[in-house]
Amino acid sequence: MSFKSLGLSEPLLKAIQKKGYETPSPIQAKAIPPVLEGKDVLASAQTGTGKTAGFTLPLLHLLSSNSREQRHRPVRALILTPTRELAAQVYANVKEYSEFLNIRSTVIFGGVNQKPQVNKLSQGVDVLVATPGRLIDLENQGVLSLSKVEIFVLDEADRMLDMGFLRDIERVMKLMPAKRQNLMFSATFSKDIKKLAYSILNNPIQVEATPENTAVEVIEQKVYRVAKGKKTGLIIKLISEGDWKQVLVFTRTKHGANKLCKKMISDGITAAAIHGNKSQGARTKALAGFKNGSVRVLVATDIAARGLDIPLLPHVINFELPNISEDYVHRIGRTGRAGASGEAISLVSADETTFLRDIEKLIDMKIKVEILEGFEPDPNASTEPIKPGQNRNQGRGRGSNNRNSGKTKSTSSDRNKSRSRNRNNDSRR
Ligand code: AMP
Repeated sequence: MSFKSLGLSEPLLKAIQKKGYETPSPIQAKAIPPVLEGKDVLASAQTGTGKTAGFTLPLLHLLSSNSREQRHRPVRALILTPTRELAAQVYANVKEYSEFLNIRSTVIFGGVNQKPQVNKLSQGVDVLVATPGRLIDLENQGVLSLSKVEIFVLDEADRMLDMGFLRDIERVMKLMPAKRQNLMFSATFSKDIKKLAYSILNNPIQVEATPENTAVEVIEQKVYRVAKGKKTGLIIKLISEGDWKQVLVFTRTKHGANKLCKKMISDGITAAAIHGNKSQGARTKALAGFKNGSVRVLVATDIAARGLDIPLLPHVINFELPNISEDYVHRIGRTGRAGASGEAISLVSADETTFLRDIEKLIDMKIKVEILEGFEPDPNASTEPIKPGQNRNQGRGRGSNNRNSGKTKSTSSDRNKSRSRNRNNDSRR
């Protein structure tokens, strides 16, 4: 299978070649043909599968082969994304793929001055990448119109709903013509997502990147059982002694992310935190530093990390397990991308036992457990689960500077894969 055989135009093939892609990824091979045929598409794909090119390439093909000379260019394609980072990344892709086409595009999102965005819009754009809030805001101000949209893409629809954007999506839909092509991408398919898909899509073709759990199975996963107060010491030890260079660390709270980041910096590990309370500038800077290697550790919360385009990440660490099992799959999906191997490590204290059990049920496998000498779990700690928003005692206390031997004791090393698949996780979201 080649990009050429999918029927994409020469200028797009040239841009693809410039990017260095040799063959379409599975989601691209499945999604591009129906999109080119003008069909509505419902795609199950998460970040890392190549989904952005999966919708951007055929969208650009359609717009450019159907272009009309107009003095003022109306927005002909709208790509809606949940976060600013994702919007910026999708826009970067649109720019790259349209390099050899006569297509204008721009991106708009909140948290930054609207003036440059308004200026760009006033010159006319064919493709608009946007987050819902700023889009509605600028439409209300009369700065842009969606009345000529031909193609609508809803990216990461599940995260859109998690972030409470349903109302905004419904408002945006009313601003576009009823007759248009719709593409919807989502990593998970809860009841609410299916309902949304029914309301947006018209007789859609359904495509799936890979069966839900395949990615999980190729990632090397490990759990360290550890006392809560010793997690900070353990993570610093793992990163320093392993000499890990590019590590994405997940915490459950923004406060936890800041605190861990400070501690790492004081121990000489370059680190930056990325979460909802950080300004757009700070987030962009942290991400850029992480990508260019000047920041070794990026500490992120789930929402902030969603959609970040960081290819080939060797290490992902869950400083705390997420209480939503699907988030674990999203988190570890950051490693082992595009066929490269990666390692996902979780530091698990007694009160996260239930979360671990739920995750293992979802991914349908037992994760290998280790205990590192000097960082043993607290036998007297309560196994009562942490409630969302609660951040008991995190990173405090005894043993956090223990730099004893790195000998490991393996308590359960067998990856025990059961055959029965548990794919019905709708109620969890
Ligand atoms: P995405 O899932 O859209 O975030 O893409 C994940 C990563 O895969 C990005 O860094 C893309 O540049 C890269 N990518 C997308 N399509 C291909 C392809 N056909 N071959 C190689 N890499 C790709």
